[in-house]
Amino acid sequence: MASPFPAVVFDLDGTLVLTGTNRPAPGAVELVETLHARDVPLAVATSAPVALARRVLAGLGVLACFTEVVGRGADGVYAGKDAVVGEALLGLGITTAEPGTPMLGDSPADLDAAVAHGLVPVGVAWGGSRPDVLRAAGARAVLGHPDELWSLRAS
Ligand SMILES: [Mg+2]
Repeated sequence: MASPFPAVVFDLDGTLVLTGTNRPAPGAVELVETLHARDVPLAVATSAPVALARRVLAGLGVLACFTEVVGRGADGVYAGKDAVVGEALLGLGITTAEPGTPMLGDSPADLDAAVAHGLVPVGVAWGGSRPDVLRAAGARAVLGHPDELWSLRAS
């Protein structure tokens, strides 16, 4: 079976977990597990410290599904979403994203970073930004539930 996406990049807070919590967004764990089971390379690009992000993902039971987790460095420096998404892609071995590679996020900064790296900017409606704000920021789609990502696959 062909891989449904070349890769997928996720924001963490407000996207994989409910905003400001360690609780999974409904359907997010299942989406990650299904993508991983279908051999889709996965990365997290977050403004949270990497160690914290890894703990949160471990708490959800999905840390092993991710090839790369990039965020604020141990020195506390956050280089910005654009930079962490770039680093996440490099961690996946991607220098030029294939068409149809989505990035899911709940903020306009996520979408901007996605566009900057040639990713499909996909907003999520369960995070910190309203769908109309995400659409205005360039979201190709705004998901009401993680399962809706499947409707964006190429084939
Ligand atoms: Mg977020």
